[in-house]
Amino acid sequence: MQTCYACQKPATTKEHTPPLCLFPDRKDIPDGVDFRRNLITVPSCEEHNLKKSGDDEYLLYVLSTNLPANEIAQAQWTKLKRAVVRRPALWNSMCSSSEDVEVMDSQTGKIYEAVQIGLDGSRFQRSLELITLGIYCHHFGNHWIGNIRIHSDFADFPYESSKAEIDANRMLVFHCAEKLFASIPRHGDNQDVFWYQVYKPENSFRYLIRIGFYGRCTITAFLGEMNE
Ligand SMILES: [Zn+2]
Repeated sequence: MQTCYACQKPATTKEHTPPLCLFPDRKDIPDGVDFRRNLITVPSCEEHNLKKSGDDEYLLYVLSTNLPANEIAQAQWTKLKRAVVRRPALWNSMCSSSEDVEVMDSQTGKIYEAVQIGLDGSRFQRSLELITLGIYCHHFGNHWIGNIRIHSDFADFPYESSKAEIDANRMLVFHCAEKLFASIPRHGDNQDVFWYQVYKPENSFRYLIRIGFYGRCTITAFLGEMNE
């Protein structure tokens, strides 16, 4: 019997990796355009598929309203509006923590005026960890059991204590990752929405998986012990 990509329980369903809602519905985009070609699915239990639809919508919101996101992310705003009507409490709680800010694009140095929304870091991180587990399961045909650490190039996580340290670490990991993955093939048939790359350092049990959403919203997942 097949087991779930995330928890090893018997699989009773299939889950899209990343979640299906990230890929625009055909009704929200021009005729003849299709961003749902050959989507990746992995065996899943109910909990890691059906019970996380709120987390999936939260992920869609965070990614598609992010500054580096491309125009396909903007096409997703129609879907977001429907989600707000369906689940108003989730959206109201996010908007209540918003404030006007100036932000610098760490890739170009350009300054933007923007609205900053308080990020539910653990919720966002959990979604990205599940996507990483799904990609690993799809790519290698087995399950990752061990540590995962997610580094986002565009959102803060609660690993570091000070803002300066966060910015410095983010720039450092972004530039290292760009260099490391420069010549590694990108997988995925809808790369304007999602792609991934896999890198295994020689003589190491570690893996690095780089994931891109909506163009430039990139993350790097470290699988294994960080101090190896
Ligand atoms: Zn599961």
